Amino acid sequence: MHNYEKDGILDQKFLKLPSQKQLEKGAAIIECVQKIPCNPCVDSCPTGAISMKDINDLPVMDYDKCIACSKCVGICPGLAIFVVKCKDDKALITLPYEFLPEPIVGKKVQVLDRAGKIVGKGIVKKVVNKDKTFVVTIEVKKDLLMVVRNIKV
Ligand code: SF4
Ligand code: SF4
Repeated sequence: MHNYEKDGILDQKFLKLPSQKQLEKGAAIIECVQKIPCNPCVDSCPTGAISMKDINDLPVMDYDKCIACSKCVGICPGLAIFVVKCKDDKALITLPYEFLPEPIVGKKVQVLDRAGKIVGKGIVKKVVNKDKTFVVTIEVKKDLLMVVRNIKV
């Protein structure tokens, strides 16, 4: 098991996860675990799904309010927000990506876990260029929904 304080890699058991129904609808998973003065995620959300007691606190998600629009993904300076959605036996993961070359829709990419280990392949479904951050949606096998958090083009 990873220890974020020691190796900087988050273990998903420390996250409050959405229900199956919420996963089918799509939900933003906020993997922000360090209390730093930051809150653009709160301001970016059109439905008020992300809240914070004060700017030094951790963001709190209301999965019922999330419409999986992904606006929070490209705005987070910590690259800590991912939108996940179940679709039959596949999963769609929307993640921030700040490297080149730009991912191309329809192409296969390698998919990586939180530790940067390659765990399989995915297909690029959508790319939105948000300033210097690409917001990329990939399709992977369903069992990788909470595993994949990066890609290698
Ligand atoms: S995906 Fe959209 S609705 Fe959901 S938390 Fe992010 S900004 Fe809000
Ligand atoms: S914008 Fe990102 S880093 Fe900042 S509080 Fe929100 S989730 Fe955390």
